[in-house]
Formats: sequence, C-alpha cells, structure tokens
Amino acid sequence: MSKTTKILLVYTGGTIGMVKDYETGALKAFNFKKLLKNIPELTQIDCQIDSVSFDDPIDSSNISTLHWVEIAQIIEAHYETHDGFVVLHGSDTMSYSASALSYMLENLAKPVIFTGSQLPIGDLRTDAKENLITSIQIAALQKNGRPVIQEVGLYFEYKLYRGNRTTKINAEHFEAFASMNYPPLVESGVHLKVYHEYLLPRKRAKKLLVHTVLDDNVVILKLFPGFNAKTLTAVLDTPDLKAVVLETYGAGNAPTESWLVEGLKKAMKKGLFIINVTQCSGGSVIMGQYETSEQLKKLQVVNGKDITTEAAITKLMYLLGSNISSKTFKTIFETPLRGEME
Ligand code: ASP
Repeated sequence: MSKTTKILLVYTGGTIGMVKDYETGALKAFNFKKLLKNIPELTQIDCQIDSVSFDDPIDSSNISTLHWVEIAQIIEAHYETHDGFVVLHGSDTMSYSASALSYMLENLAKPVIFTGSQLPIGDLRTDAKENLITSIQIAALQKNGRPVIQEVGLYFEYKLYRGNRTTKINAEHFEAFASMNYPPLVESGVHLKVYHEYLLPRKRAKKLLVHTVLDDNVVILKLFPGFNAKTLTAVLDTPDLKAVVLETYGAGNAPTESWLVEGLKKAMKKGLFIINVTQCSGGSVIMGQYETSEQLKKLQVVNGKDITTEAAITKLMYLLGSNISSKTFKTIFETPLRGEME
C-alpha cells in the first residue's frame, strides 16, 4: 500500500450514510461528502481515496437491476485509473448486489469490496468505521505490484467473504452475514490474515468485460408443507417467465405428489428452466439421494448444488440476459463461473 495506490469509494446508500430524522425517528440517506467528514481517520490511510456517489442514495431495499448496471459502469469507467473499489451499500440486499456484480464483471482482476454497517456512521457505537476502513485497506492490498484480491468480496465485522457466497442472516447483530459453504477470504485481527488458498486464482491478462443486460423474468419459489397446485400453476403461468429458483427441502427434496412433478414437467416443456436450490443455509443439493429428489433428477431439473438463493437468482438474470442457448443452459448453470458454487 502506498499513496500511489488509488481506491474508489462508490456510495450507493444504506445505513452507513444515513441520519435520523428526529421528527419521525426514521433513518434516511444523506449527503456523501458529510459522510466522509465524519471519518477523519480516512486521511491516515496510506492510499489515495476518491469517491463517486449515486445522485440519489438509496436504502438497499430499493435496489434494482438498473442500479447494478450503474455500479458496474462506474467501476468500468474507473477501472484503469484505480487499483481497487469499495462499494458502500445497505446490508439488506448486499448479497444480491455482490452476487450480481460478480457475474457482470467478467475477467475482474481488481478488488471490488462491498461493505456497509448496521449502525449509521455518526452513531457512537457504530460498526461503520471499522467496516469502511478495513475494506479500503483490503482493497489496497498489493503483492508484486498486483492486487491481492481479484474478485467481488463482502466485508462485514472482521471478515471478508466471497460476495456471491454470502447471505444476510441477522438484522441486528454486527455479524450480519454468513458464508456457510465457503470459508472467509480474509480475517481482520491485529493483522489482516489473507487465506490465499481460497482466493479466486489470478486472471491472465484478459480485458474486463462488463455485462449490463440482465433478464428479470425470473422468480424464487420456496416450498413449504401446504404448498398447493393452484399456487404452482399461478406462478408457472406468469407471463414471460423464463426461469424459477425452486427452494427445496434439505438436500434438494420435494413432495412426490404428481401435480408438482407434472406441473414442473409442463413448464419445462414450454422452455422454462427450473433450478433446484436448497432452502437450508448450508450444505448442498444432491439429487437422487432420496426418492423425493429422484423425480426432479429424472426431469433434468438444473442442479443448484451449494449455491445460495441470492447467487442463483442473479446467475439466472445474467445467463438469460446473455442469450445462452437452451441446450447448454443447464451445463453452464451447473458450472462455477465466479466461484459461486462447488
Ligand atoms: N435498510 C438498510 C439498507 O439495506 C439496512 C442497512 O443499510 O444495513 O439499506
């Protein structure tokens, strides 16, 4: 790290930059320049920090695919001039955004670190300062003149995770995220401990490709005891629907009732893709292990393996937006593209 290392902060909104409206008590976004004034410590970090802000910072519950395109384009516009990127983002949908960006930024060879906080930066007990400062330090890590992290990460409460492996698991604890199926990439204690063996391998000098076409004709369908044929039909008959993330039980199991199997079969005949993802937070789909997943296997449902729902739905948007042929769709979905699955 040195003053010649340049980091770009991309401020999209979220609690990290919010203030309390003392009349209503609600948190709302505020001016990013004021945010930086609240952290004089930033001037002590041994790198140059520039910033870009969304014109209208948002609570991340309002994030849309257009915002993802905006983030990708900001990174693309500054890719040659900056060594790393820190995206300040609300925690509510951060795992979706980090997953989406991991697909949108093909051949990424620089760090893109998502972070935010549970308490606003001006709060006495805020977690924002540590999250922000350490994210910048991680984004600035270099070895032999090259960035150490060359992928989209998510830093929260002393751990950097691969972004597309994370899920928000707690609305209150500072430790708001988990990555159940992949270990942390970096841990922050007295020193930063980088687990090099878990990082995505260095990219050969390929040009960054930014994908901005995302297809949102997708849906997440979570099974539950009592889920019925009427609801299934209503969802599968949604106009223009192209793919479904089916959140199944345990290792990818679903009821063996004929209306479910027939309904899925009919939808697949129409050209819909069905992705089997477990609703458990950890572990993997193993189709065929039980009788209750055997019929899904026979149907040639796509195996989501150990992917998170967030990484699955955004992978669908990215692949459908890339016009992958339907013949190769299953194979490509089942292949790890950015380290998002085993
Ligand atoms: N509602 C906020 C958001 O996601 C929560 C946070 O920032 O952590 O924007």
